[in-house]
Amino acid sequence: MQQILKSLGLSHLNEGISTGAASWQGQGEEISSFSPVDGHLIGKVNAASREDYETVIGQAQEAFKTWRLVPAPKRGEIVRQMGEQFRQYKTELGTLVSYEMGKSLQEGLGEVQEIIDICDFAVGLSRQLYGLSMHSERPSHRMYEQWHPLGIVGIISAFNFPVAVWSWNSMLAWVCGDVCVWKPSEKTPLTAIACQHIIKEVLKTNNVPEGVSGLVVGGREVGEWLSHDVRIPLVSATGSTRMGKAVGQAVGGRLGRSLLELGGNNAIIVSSQADLPLAIPAIVFGAVGTAGQRCTSTRRLIVHETIYDEVKTRLAKAYVQLRIGNPLDAHYHVGPLIDTDAVENYQSAIRAIEAQGGTFVVAPAVLSGEAFASGCYVAPCIAEVENDWDIVQHETFAPILYLIKYSTIEEAIAFQNGVPQGLSSAIFTLNLREAEAFLSQAGSDCGIANVNIGTSGAEIGGAFGGEKETGGGRESGSDAWKAYMRRQTNTINYGTTLPLAQGIKFEI
Ligand code: NAD
Repeated sequence: MQQILKSLGLSHLNEGISTGAASWQGQGEEISSFSPVDGHLIGKVNAASREDYETVIGQAQEAFKTWRLVPAPKRGEIVRQMGEQFRQYKTELGTLVSYEMGKSLQEGLGEVQEIIDICDFAVGLSRQLYGLSMHSERPSHRMYEQWHPLGIVGIISAFNFPVAVWSWNSMLAWVCGDVCVWKPSEKTPLTAIACQHIIKEVLKTNNVPEGVSGLVVGGREVGEWLSHDVRIPLVSATGSTRMGKAVGQAVGGRLGRSLLELGGNNAIIVSSQADLPLAIPAIVFGAVGTAGQRCTSTRRLIVHETIYDEVKTRLAKAYVQLRIGNPLDAHYHVGPLIDTDAVENYQSAIRAIEAQGGTFVVAPAVLSGEAFASGCYVAPCIAEVENDWDIVQHETFAPILYLIKYSTIEEAIAFQNGVPQGLSSAIFTLNLREAEAFLSQAGSDCGIANVNIGTSGAEIGGAFGGEKETGGGRESGSDAWKAYMRRQTNTINYGTTLPLAQGIKFEI
């Protein structure tokens, strides 16, 4: 790990590390980053003080003045070079993601691959920031719309995707001509600093001011500075619904824009006509992958009554085979939770399930012993519950899977929609009518609805996000770029008279 930290420019272990690509040193409180894998201290960083924050915002404002004038395809070329850098550092950064956050090495590497993919996407996008043209109702007039950059995009990210979410936002924002100020999760500051180091050389080689990519490490307070700051036209925030409500109110209160990517409570419907050999691995990966700490993790399984017992038995058999341990070792399927607070949340959810009368098909446990010395390892579990129980209505960020029985497809869809969140959903069925009912306007109310694949593991090409308490934001692919720009409608009169719209006459 020492070697990896060194290659990512993070070798000043325990000495405090500069919190940004900028040349200043953070002056705020000290944050220690412990690995949930083994409980070891990886490094310490000084968070941004208010003064540091002002410096970064000032640099961003200055940088915007020149960056917005760089032709979009040239900005794309710079993003392409960043993608090359991430290709070069994929193993090192993926390993650090895995060690600092606790997800499996495969998933850590997958996260860096997402950065590479969104860079490629953004390069193409840099030549496709299309506006429409319209026919004017007035003679000798031309109407069209164009898209301009907004300015500073504030990015607040969560611990569970410590680098990918930043890249979904920043790579698009950069080709759109915006500059970015990133506040990563205080639980994963080192991966964020590593990303800044990885792109720093590209900025330098291309004479791009460092203010294009600002970093402010810190906790909630720093996020609040961003949300209340009128100099930041767009705040893109990923995290819990509680956080999103606070950010949404603060940004809305100053009539800024927010792009909110919040909690999910994702369900898979397993129909009586499901292909079970396909469904079972998808369910298990969705429920236990990243130790249940994906926004798209499968939390509820809504199973048809005729196959309920069979699904239960198959899942119990699959769960017995799960190996829990060091996520850097490919032998293990399930790694740790992020910290001991998360373990407490898991335990409190277990108590709530028991208090409401739930029974466990696969029992919960907090694991102890030398291999689990960080105190962050728990056993994935499965509980039989009712959909409307209070605990089932909440997102518990841990590998707890709820089993719910249904008898008609209408009832299954009502259960699926019967929670406050609306991120990801799926149905396993080989019945065309059921699949189409699930996808119809009366079907799933989520931002993501899949057929015969699970709820997690989205590709960057689609717009990513969800409805209701998930916040309504869309990031990544499709036309999500429009959130990072302002639309301007232009009407040009190339005639010799001044006709007014709607035939209004005004003569002087
Ligand atoms: P969190 O809400 O605790 O923190 C997320 C970020 O918000 C952190 O950087 C934190 O410092 C900051 N923050 C917290 N309170 C704030 C406030 N009042 N104002 C401004 N910033 C504030 O979330 P977490 O525990 O890091 O991440 C897990 C959550 O994120 C889960 O709910 C998960 O579903 C969600 N998530 C959603 C998506 C999505 O795309 N929908 C993706 C990843 C994670």
